[in-house]
Parts: sequence; structure tokens; C-alpha cells
Amino acid sequence: MKIDLHAHSTASDGTESPAELVAAAKAAGLTTLAITDHDTTAGWVEAVGAAIREGIELVRGIEISCSRNYRSIHLLGYLPDPDDPRLAIELARARDSRVNRMDRMVQRMADDGIPVTVEEVRAQLAPGATLGRPHLADALVASGVVPTRDEAFRDLLHDGSKYYVGHYAPDPVVAIELVRAAGGVPVLAHPFAMRTGTISDGMVEELADAGLAGLEAHHRDHEPADVARAVHLAQRHGLVVTGSSDYHGTGKLNRLGEFTTDPREWSRIVEQSHGVKVIKP
Ligand code: AMP
Ligand code: FE
Ligand code: FE
Ligand code: ZN
Repeated sequence: MKIDLHAHSTASDGTESPAELVAAAKAAGLTTLAITDHDTTAGWVEAVGAAIREGIELVRGIEISCSRNYRSIHLLGYLPDPDDPRLAIELARARDSRVNRMDRMVQRMADDGIPVTVEEVRAQLAPGATLGRPHLADALVASGVVPTRDEAFRDLLHDGSKYYVGHYAPDPVVAIELVRAAGGVPVLAHPFAMRTGTISDGMVEELADAGLAGLEAHHRDHEPADVARAVHLAQRHGLVVTGSSDYHGTGKLNRLGEFTTDPREWSRIVEQSHGVKVIKP
């Protein structure tokens, strides 16, 4: 088995449609793929159709942008019921807040003479998709301000940039409780990646007590010491260990299947879920 539990489509900041993502996963030799767009389940229906056509196991998931003390923390939620009202309302609130936040980032850039408009950012977005900095990056690339998405982040859009504006995001404890209440299984995405807020051992313990199910240990943004630390903390708190690509199509260097999850760890996740079912080939 080859199990990749973290990938993005055009429903958020990936560059492939949900159907293209699923086809790419099949072509990459994966047996199991999770679609985990930022703050939305909008890609699920198309992905399910593609998974049945392609004959690949599909896990419906999300990646919730959380925040504590102005630092960003990403929480993967596997197999939650998308119609759970509390979860759906929280995701909608985060997506709405991203619209105003984008207006403010574009305004700050315009005030500084960087030529970009909200319309140009919108043009980079699939209908119904979660708006994010990557779409602003793509607009800057399209108008020739920077050559690549990566350089847009490095020079203009990183968390410490003067153009950076935050958006509403729940505390991770709230998000964990919402995912669990919707029958889903919460796993902390890339907990020790430098580009988001790396978290303390004490916070892992706090989140485990709140119902966290697992840690994404094997990930491109983790150094070997980060992986060892995640595996150690998972053992200490009885958490599942996952590994995944965090594929974004051409939007990032991450390749499908570059990190994978052990089948025994994957079955521990499925056992804990009571939201939606895994789509079987
Ligand atoms: P946002 O949620 O709108 O604040 O944007 C964060 C997203 O930007 C993350 O999900 C990443 O996938 C993406 N991102 C962060 N840094 C980079 C980078 N250097 N190149 C491409 N995408 C990035
Ligand atoms: Fe992303
Ligand atoms: Fe993430
Ligand atoms: Zn991700």
C-alpha cells in the first residue's frame, strides 16, 4: 500500500482540479489519497467521482487553519461529516474572513506602488475555492511582479512581511473538538515546520488531552530531528504517526507520495472515525 494523507486541489491552493489530483495520485502509484483542502470540503464531490473512475481509495479530509498567539497551526481532519453545522459554520467563518483579509493585503501593496488588484487575485481562483495568499502570489506572477509563487512568498507574502494580514482562525483546541464532534479524526499537520508556527512539547500534550489523534511526522518541511521528536511525542501520548506529501500541484515542489503513512497507522485513524466513509476502489 502507498498512502498519502495530505494533498490540495483547486478547491484551495493546489493547481490541479480535484479530478486531476485523484488521477495524478493514481498515476503516481498511490493506493490511498486524502484530499485536504484548506478550510473547505468543496472539492469532495468531484474527487469522489474521480476516485471511483480511477479505482483508488479516497479519504475525504480538510486542513483547518488554526491560530494561537498570532501563530498559524494547521490541523488535518479526516472523514468528518461535512454537514455537521458547528464545523460547517466555523469553516465558513474562516473562509469569509479570508476575503476581507485579501482586500487589506492588496490595499497595503497598492499603497506601496505594487500593481495588483482584487480582481486579478480573484481571476486565479476556482469558483467556490478558499482564497489564500497563494492566489495573491499567482496574481503577482501573472502581472510580472515576481517570477514564481515561491519568490512571491519569500519577498512579499511571508508571515513577517509588512503586507501580511491575518484572518479569523479558530484555536486548535476548538478545531480539534469540532472535528471530533463531526465524527472526524484530527491530526496535526507538519507540527515542527518552520514556515508555520512550530509548537512546543507542552502544547502537543495539551492538544492530545483535547482529543488530538495524531501527528504528521514525515513531511518535507521537517528535519530528521523534527521527525524523531514527533515520533517520540506520538509514542508518549498514544498518537498516530502519519507521513504525507502536502502536494499542491505545480504550486509547490512537494511531489505526491514523497512521504507516506504506514498502513497500521492509517487503520488506527479509520477505526476512530464515524463521520463519512472511506471511498473504496
Ligand atoms: P494563507 O492560508 O492564505 O495564509 O496561505 C498559506 C498557504 O500558503 C499555505 O497553505 C501554503 O501552502 C502556502 N505557502 C506558504 N509558503 C509558500 C511558498 N513558499 N510557496 C508556495 N506556497 C506557499
Ligand atoms: Fe497550502
Ligand atoms: Fe499546511
Ligand atoms: Zn497542506
